[in-house]
Amino acid sequence: MTSSTEHLGSYPSAAFIGLGNMGGPMAANLVQAGVHVHGYDVVPEAMETARSNGVEVTTDPLEAVAHADVVLTMLPSGQHVISAYQDSPGLLSAARPGTIFLDCSTINISEAQQAAQLAEDAGFRAADAPVSGGVVGAEAGTLAFMVGGESTVFDEIHPLLDIMGARVVHCGGNGLGQAAKICNNMILGISQIAVAEAFVLAEQLGLTDQALYDVVSKASGQCWALTTNCPVPGPVPTSPANRDYAPGFASALMAKDLGLATNALDEQGVDAKLGRLAAAIYSEFAQGEGARQDFSAIINSIRDTSSRQGA
Ligand code: NAD
Repeated sequence: MTSSTEHLGSYPSAAFIGLGNMGGPMAANLVQAGVHVHGYDVVPEAMETARSNGVEVTTDPLEAVAHADVVLTMLPSGQHVISAYQDSPGLLSAARPGTIFLDCSTINISEAQQAAQLAEDAGFRAADAPVSGGVVGAEAGTLAFMVGGESTVFDEIHPLLDIMGARVVHCGGNGLGQAAKICNNMILGISQIAVAEAFVLAEQLGLTDQALYDVVSKASGQCWALTTNCPVPGPVPTSPANRDYAPGFASALMAKDLGLATNALDEQGVDAKLGRLAAAIYSEFAQGEGARQDFSAIINSIRDTSSRQGA
């Protein structure tokens, strides 16, 4: 460990830009652990909640960054991250030497690489560290972090990520944290649709939900989309289906992540028919009221279309 690592490993000063559903509780957990957090969000209500959780909020993001050893961003899209970094005056113009820029948003791989390059061109170090685990994981400090960046950067930020997460994996160079996140969510989107289709078919065939669950949860069709996020009420009492599909993980976010996966598939020329189909299915579902529902609610759309086709 370098002296810098020891500094970050004890109580560094952090700037947190984007204090929304995820960033708000992540920043609060850093404060709880003794990190001095300066925070900024464009929405006053988000700033007020963060202030009540001990974040030192400021209406000037450059002021937040000027005090920081690490600048964390948790923003809606890659364009938000890039413009926050570079638009004049951007965050990069205000940071002090040695600052690490750590973007935790879910964005395109190419955008993550561009953001890291902008930081490096300005003399800083940078990594992407998207998360899974949702708002519940952000509040509980049990997120999974997928980190893309140099090993030395990973080693320095690891103690900070341990405060907010239960699992921290170094995936490779810049952008590869996003790559891991996008691949995981492509599997998840496809498998949630597959599980939902199987339940609808089973219902039509006269099989009870519980009977299908009892067989498949112990057979080769077993997966997280079935045993944790079961799309019908009953077999898994904690799944969103038991609370009228309150998320969980909203379909709008799944549609966004599958859009990022499609971009990566196009860029790499990968023939992934199911990934593209899942992206189209969730994109359509998220245009209606499904957007705010958990992504397991896709079963209702499948059931609805099936009965119309059978009629
Ligand atoms: P959110 O919309 O609740 O929060 C984003 C925050 O960024 C908002 O408060 C917004 O006001 C703020 N913001 C926008 N532009 C800004 C700027 N220029 N400067 C400062 N603040 C700005 O979204 P979220 O659910 O917290 O998601 C954040 C990121 O995390 C997204 O990239 C999302 O895909 C990813 N993510 C979300 C979840 C989830 O379950 N919500 C899970 C994993 C990953």
